[in-house]
Amino acid sequence: MSGQKELEFKGYAVTDPSAWSQLSVVPFQPKNFGPDDVELAITHCGVCGSDLHTASGGWGPVSPPLIVGHEIVGKVTRVGENVKDVKVGDRVGIGAQVGSCLKCRACNDNYENYCPNSIYTYAGQYPDGVRTQGGYATAIRAHHHFVFPIPDQLESRHAAPMLCGGVTVFSPLKANGCGPGKKVGVIGIGGLGHFAVMFAKAMGAEVWAFTRGTAKAEDAKKMGADHVVDTTVDGYWNDLFRTFDIIISTVDHFPPGVTLRNIFSMLYVHGKYITVGMPDMDEPLPTIHPFDITLNGCLVGGSAIGSREDVMEMLQLAAEKGIKPWIQELPMKEASKAFEGVKSGKVRYRYVLQQDIAPVA
Ligand SMILES: [Zn+2]
Ligand SMILES: [Zn+2]
Repeated sequence: MSGQKELEFKGYAVTDPSAWSQLSVVPFQPKNFGPDDVELAITHCGVCGSDLHTASGGWGPVSPPLIVGHEIVGKVTRVGENVKDVKVGDRVGIGAQVGSCLKCRACNDNYENYCPNSIYTYAGQYPDGVRTQGGYATAIRAHHHFVFPIPDQLESRHAAPMLCGGVTVFSPLKANGCGPGKKVGVIGIGGLGHFAVMFAKAMGAEVWAFTRGTAKAEDAKKMGADHVVDTTVDGYWNDLFRTFDIIISTVDHFPPGVTLRNIFSMLYVHGKYITVGMPDMDEPLPTIHPFDITLNGCLVGGSAIGSREDVMEMLQLAAEKGIKPWIQELPMKEASKAFEGVKSGKVRYRYVLQQDIAPVA
């Protein structure tokens, strides 16, 4: 470690909620370093829709300073005495979760992403009272269970957006039986949707991409979609009546008057509609009438991020099949430009920010 300066914890923070997209560099206090913790110097951080929802106050009031970002890759700078699977200098990642109780039923069943005592990577609180701050920053500390070694075959910039965006769709695809012989629909070809198309295809399913208009049709095919459906064409659902085993919906905006009936009609018997999109609090799912879900016995559900097991399996699959997200890279100081691109839907298909406060050797 000779020649290396001690890590300074600083990040791009929302300091004024009324000007939430203007971030400024502030120092912050990391959690107290414990025997189970790993500390890393951050090199890359993806920009997730959650970052915008949280920073803008869409999911609840913001208490500044708030540093968002939960698609983090970096180099290990310190490990606690109980940490066996990573060492200083290793390349590792952290997603949307940095802690859970690790002893409840969910945690014991490898569902720690559903632990009622989950600690989220930012806008959360550690048991020691310190607030969690995310990855638009120089460094982060987390319990080793939530720190994932990155396979050598994956570049850091490609691994980063997998750690929330990727696993958020990989987990429900796996949990709901995606594989050879299955028909999978993906609604919304953005950050999450583009991962869903690539992973569903890699898992062996036949994949339909649903997208508004035709602007993304060619891209969706290159990502691996066997079919692309333009959802601005009235009645698009008729030809796909009772087709899908799984529909993954990444939609996070439901304008008034939208109905899910047409979507549900495309599900095969016991087919599953899984939402991973998380709108602002004032945008609930459209009303569902029992007729919409009884006539094909379909199931309506949701999914939140993924477990360590899911992340490790996803990274392995990506490494084996050469899956690379479609990314646009920016220095961290241009995070607000990335926010703009996500908000306006211009992003193709994930922004990844590179460290620029304290470049990592
Ligand atoms: Zn996320
Ligand atoms: Zn738990």
